[in-house]
Amino acid sequence: MFKKILIANRGEIALRVICACREMGIKTVAVFSEADEHSLHVRFADEAVCIGPARSAESYLHVPAIISAAEITGADAIHPGYGFLSESAYLAEVCEACHIKFIGPSPAVIRLMGEKSRARRAMKKAGVVTLPGSDGPVETEEEARTIAAALGFPVIIKASNGGGGRGMRIVRNADELSQALRTAQREAQAAFGIGDVYLEKYLEAPRHIEMQILGDEHGNVVHLGERECSVQRRHQKLIEEAPSAVISEKQRAALGTMVVEAARAVGYSSAGTFEFLMDAQDNLYFIEANTRLQVEHGVTELITGIDIVKEQIRVASGAVLSFTQDEVTFSGHAIECRINAENPVTFAPSPGRVDAFSLPGGPGIRVDTFVHAEATVPPNYDSLIAKIMSYGRTREEAIARMRRALEMTVIEGIHTSVPMHLKILAEVDFQQARISTAFMDRFLPPSPAA
Ligand code: ADP
Repeated sequence: MFKKILIANRGEIALRVICACREMGIKTVAVFSEADEHSLHVRFADEAVCIGPARSAESYLHVPAIISAAEITGADAIHPGYGFLSESAYLAEVCEACHIKFIGPSPAVIRLMGEKSRARRAMKKAGVVTLPGSDGPVETEEEARTIAAALGFPVIIKASNGGGGRGMRIVRNADELSQALRTAQREAQAAFGIGDVYLEKYLEAPRHIEMQILGDEHGNVVHLGERECSVQRRHQKLIEEAPSAVISEKQRAALGTMVVEAARAVGYSSAGTFEFLMDAQDNLYFIEANTRLQVEHGVTELITGIDIVKEQIRVASGAVLSFTQDEVTFSGHAIECRINAENPVTFAPSPGRVDAFSLPGGPGIRVDTFVHAEATVPPNYDSLIAKIMSYGRTREEAIARMRRALEMTVIEGIHTSVPMHLKILAEVDFQQARISTAFMDRFLPPSPAA
C-alpha cells in the first residue's frame, strides 16, 4: 500500500481524498495555489506545498509544479480528484516515467476515452449502443451534410476533446450547418487546443443516466449501478440521484453487464463512469466515458455502502477489488444537490468571504464541503462549494430529508444555489421523477446558443 499520496486538487474533493487516506492510514500531501493558502485541505493534509499563483494554468494545471511537489515530499502516488488534471493522459505518463503511481486508468485508456469520437467507436466495437452519429471527427461541410441528412435534424456538433458541458452546438436545420460547423471547430480549437468535432443525433429532453464502474489491474471489473443526472443547466449537472426512478432491476443488470464487458475490452482499471442518454422510448445510448472520480460519486456510495475513493486507492496499489459483483447490493435512495457560490436567479458567480456557515446534519444527511465560517471562496475556480447528499429508504424520504436539510442550511456573505434547489424540490414534476435535461428550462430565460 502507498505510504503517502499527493492530492493534485483543491476544495471539497481534496478533502474527500484526505478522508479516505486518513481512514487507510496513508499520509497526505496537499498542493495549493496562493489563493488557497488558508483552505481546509491545506490544514488537514499532513504536508502542504504551495505550487504557484491563483491562476490554475500556473498552479493546479501545472504538471512540473505538481511532480516537483511529489518528488520533494516523497509521495508515492498522486490522486487527481476530478476536473483539473484528472483526465490528463500526459500527467499519467509523466507519473509513470517518474515512478509515481497515478491513481486512475492507464494513460492509453485515458487518451482513448478523452477523445470522444474515438471512444464512441471503441465502445461500439465493444458492443455498447452509442447514439447515432459520425464515426470519427468530421472535417468538411460536405461530410457534415451527408451525415446530418442520414441522422435527420436536429443534430449536435460536439468537440472531440470537450468536457464540462462546453463545446456543443445544436443544429436544427441544414441552413445552419456550415456556419455551425466552422464556429464549433474554431471554438473547440480555442477552448481545448484541438479543433476536432463530431456529429451526433440530438435528442430532445432526454434523461441522463450513467453507470459507475470500478476495475482493478487484474482484469476484474464491477458496476455499482446507475445514477440519474437529468437536472442540468447548460449541460452541467445540478442534482444527481441513485438509483434512477426509471431504471428497472433488469435494465440495470443489462446495462451493467454491457459496460463491464466494454471496460474489460479496453483494459479499464480504477473508477470510471459511462454516460448514456435515454430517449422518450426508454432506449439508452452511450455518449461518453469519464476516466475519473465523478463529483456525484457520493450518491452511489450511500446506496451501496462502498467507499469508491478507498477502493480506487486500493486497486491503484495493485490490490484485487475487495468485492465481487454479487456482493454489490443496493439499498434505499440518495440525492445530491450541488451547492454553488452563485446568484440563484441569474447564476452569476458569487465569490467572497463567508460570514456565517452552518450546515445540517441529522438522519440521512452527508455534506462534503471545504467551506467554513470565515472561509473565502476565491473567484478563480469552479463555483461548487458544497455537496449536500440525502439518503432515505425511499425517494420520497430522500427528498423530504433534502428539503429539510436545505431549509436548515445557513450560508451568509455570499449567494448560493440553495434557494434554487428548494424551488426544484418543490416541483411536483421533480417529486414524481418526471425529469429530463429540459427540466430546468422552466426556471431559465431562453439561452442564446446551445
Ligand atoms: P461533457 O463531457 O461536456 O459533460 P457530454 O457528452 O457528457 O459532455 O454531455 C453533457 C450533457 O449534454 C448531457 O448530459 C446532455 O444533457 C447534453 N447532451 C450531450 N449530447 C447530447 C445529445 N446528443 N442530445 C441531447 N443532449 C445531449
